[in-house]
Parts: sequence; structure tokens; C-alpha cells
Amino acid sequence: MAVFVTRAQWGARQPTGRSTQITPERGGVTIHHVGGSRIARASHSDCAAQVRGIQRQHMDGNGWADIAYSHLTCVHGYVFEGRGEGVRTAANGTNTANQNWYAVCGLVGGSSSSYDTITANLLDAFRTAIARLRSQGGAARAINGHRNQLATECPGNLYRYVQDGSLEPPGGRTHTVREGETLYSIGRRYGVPWQRIAEANGITSPYTIFVGQVLVIPDS
Ligand SMILES: [Zn+2]
Ligand SMILES: [Zn+2]
Repeated sequence: MAVFVTRAQWGARQPTGRSTQITPERGGVTIHHVGGSRIARASHSDCAAQVRGIQRQHMDGNGWADIAYSHLTCVHGYVFEGRGEGVRTAANGTNTANQNWYAVCGLVGGSSSSYDTITANLLDAFRTAIARLRSQGGAARAINGHRNQLATECPGNLYRYVQDGSLEPPGGRTHTVREGETLYSIGRRYGVPWQRIAEANGITSPYTIFVGQVLVIPDS
């Protein structure tokens, strides 16, 4: 189980504002990475300073109210509290995405051929962050990548883990959508009403799903 690091513990500055006008029950959690070069710190003692640097860049460089993400995760298995549950993110790229989806950012980066090592501890930290955003923040069960919100390479090599269900907190069944499947056919397969699957994943009319999408399958 990952360790949660509060804002006080990592030395966060106070936000200059915060909006709680969100509807995360319609979306879920969007996964990000820091970016195009390898940035994971060798020693965890350097991670808090890295998070403070990202906050400084977002507030002083971009003029935002706070660090953009809901939470951040490091390769050592820690979850750094970002804006937190119930607060609108600024990271997802569109108003709708910031309205309906929380944002969790891995402190990793690189090019596809030279990327930070994606550790088991990092995946565990993502699962912990997502579980919190669901249980305390009302997030719907869907998990997607920043690239599903708009054209971007983010979250880089992490996207494979978005797709294969590795980020799903324990206790949930998932199904990766294949060519030709519909919510109805998936519901038949698991013996669950398709409307329940739609609801659990924040999918509304016209109920579009896409190949590779990871759906949470509710128990009934
Ligand atoms: Zn991103
Ligand atoms: Zn760390």
C-alpha cells in the first residue's frame, strides 16, 4: 500500500483560489506524466522538492491557483496530495475534462525508447490515489489518459498501464473493450445490465465506447 504525503508534509504553498464546482461522477480519473525527458528522482528524499518545483511552475509560471493535479505519484510508492478530492483540476486540457475528471500525474517522463522505469511501487501509488478519489472524491470508475481528452502524447509510456487495467484499485473487475463489442454485449457476457456498466464508468448517451477502453464491471 502506497504512502500518502499531505500538502503540509511536502511543504505546499497555499492555493490562491479553488473551485469545487465539479461533477466527477460523470467522468473519473485522467492519468498524466510530467513530460518528455527522464525526471524520476533516484532518491525519494528529492521527490518533495520536485513537487514543490511543479507547484512553483504552475503558480508563478502559468499563473494558476495551485499545482494543477489532484494528486501526484512517485516511483518509490508515494502519493503526494495535490488539489485533492472535491477540487477542480487545471490539468486535463478542456473545461469539460476539468469539470468531470480528476487528474493524477506520475513523476516520470522520457521518450518512448528512453523512459523512466515504471516501478511496481508507482503503479501501486496510482491505485491508491484513484481509490481515494473514488471513495472520498466521488469519482466515477473510469480511468483514461490525458491523450483521451485532447491531442497530446501524455501520459507517454504510462498509457499502456491505463489500457491494460494495471491502475485499477483491487476489488474491481475490469474489461478491455475489443473490436465489435457494445455495452450490451459486454453486459450479456458478465451477466450485468449494460446500464449498470454505463453508470459505473461515467458513460452517458449516446453510450460510445472505444477499442482498448478499460471498463469497470460492477458486481450487479
Ligand atoms: Zn498530461
Ligand atoms: Zn519518491
